[in-house]
Amino acid sequence: MTLPLNANDPCAVIEADRAHVWHHLIQHKPFETVDPKIIVEGKGLRVWDIAGKEHIDGVSGGVWTVNVGYGRERIADAVRDQLVKLNFFAGAQGSIPGARFAEALVAKMPGMSRVYYANSGSEANEKGFKMIRQIAHKRHGGRKNKILYRERDYHGTTIACLSAGGQEERNMQYGPMTPAFVPVPHCLEYRAQWDLSGEEYGQRAADAIEEVILREGPDTVGGLCLEPVTAGGGVIPPPPGYWPRVQEICRKYDVLLMIDEVVCGVGRTGTWFGYQNYGIEPDIVTMAKGVASGYAAISCCVTTEAVFEMFKDDPDDPLNYFRDISTFGGCTAGPAAALENMAIIEEEGLLENTVAMGERVIANLEALSDKHAVIGDVRGKGLFCGAELVADRATKEPMDEGRVKAVVADCMQQGVIIGCTNRSVPGFNNTLCLSPPLIATADDIDAITGAIDGALSRVMA
Ligand code: PLP
Repeated sequence: MTLPLNANDPCAVIEADRAHVWHHLIQHKPFETVDPKIIVEGKGLRVWDIAGKEHIDGVSGGVWTVNVGYGRERIADAVRDQLVKLNFFAGAQGSIPGARFAEALVAKMPGMSRVYYANSGSEANEKGFKMIRQIAHKRHGGRKNKILYRERDYHGTTIACLSAGGQEERNMQYGPMTPAFVPVPHCLEYRAQWDLSGEEYGQRAADAIEEVILREGPDTVGGLCLEPVTAGGGVIPPPPGYWPRVQEICRKYDVLLMIDEVVCGVGRTGTWFGYQNYGIEPDIVTMAKGVASGYAAISCCVTTEAVFEMFKDDPDDPLNYFRDISTFGGCTAGPAAALENMAIIEEEGLLENTVAMGERVIANLEALSDKHAVIGDVRGKGLFCGAELVADRATKEPMDEGRVKAVVADCMQQGVIIGCTNRSVPGFNNTLCLSPPLIATADDIDAITGAIDGALSRVMA
């Protein structure tokens, strides 16, 4: 018989983890000799590991999630109160927090109107893809079913999401992929594909989308799914001129514009949603991580009323309702937490703080690039920033992955957790990622970039 785990015995916890947990996003061999890191507590933007060491969290829970920071009792209280009242009811029935959060959410998204609840970013994106496919069946005899996605974007872990994923290194082990997902070129000017710059570059990158639509046949392309700012694929904010042209192209060819706000959504870029930085009017918006800052599992697929109406006009036609469910979309903890999360962002002025602190991150990284020639490019939007490391600034030869990882590990030694793009194709596996909770202060930002300064000095010595 297995004895109950003694949570107060760090060695027992580490051994239980080592013996039984299959961690996300990591090759396990090193855990045979190195202890897995166990995080036990968080407050504000600091977390403590099982050895009692304090860390500044520069990545919001590892994956851009804990936007309002740790230890928010009012969220925990709201969730508890809701769970003891009604924890769950799924299917056609609604709930009070579900209705209230949907109303609060669309109030932040002019033009959007309907909220479909699910649990993860991948799942929200699956909902969006299914809506686009169903609209193709309903309005175009099934023909306008192709969905375009962009190189370097990521939309989740299911096979359909990977089929829409522009990071080959995440997909290649899992083929065959779902048909009718078609790539368009990435828009990172630093790794330029056209000999242009600024607005002209942005327009050219968007024109490449039109070229794909024309090549595939406009009557076969039903949707375009993009991240507002590419996240794990290299922290890539779009160049100026990109988004207006993308919108124009979608309207011209009657292509539904689906924006994946799983990372950018709910404040990360300094606006409620990343697309709002660029004046876009999407048809479908998905979101997950920051919606409840990790206090509960919730994701949303939000649509315009026009999209919703397409699923409603003739009740006798099976193509006229969305035959879909997410069982745990009926868990009330999600919207209860999300309502408090949104209130905190508003009451504490976290959007404004994100803009100011994001500018500070960029300024600090640019100052570091005067000192460290290995910083090839600095980019970001709000508290979602990246520093691309290169072996040679002139040729832009990417820094090797081992050194990039050594910089991250050195920061961890210093008690600062940062991230990097991971196991990627050359040219995209070399970007340090910074995305602290939106409550970060100037001192926190300086501590994070100061750690990078020290790490670069040591790793490059
Ligand atoms: N979309 C983007 C942009 C993401 O970065 C992620 C996850 O990192 C997802 C979708 C998938 O979200 P989840 O892991 O919740 O399924």
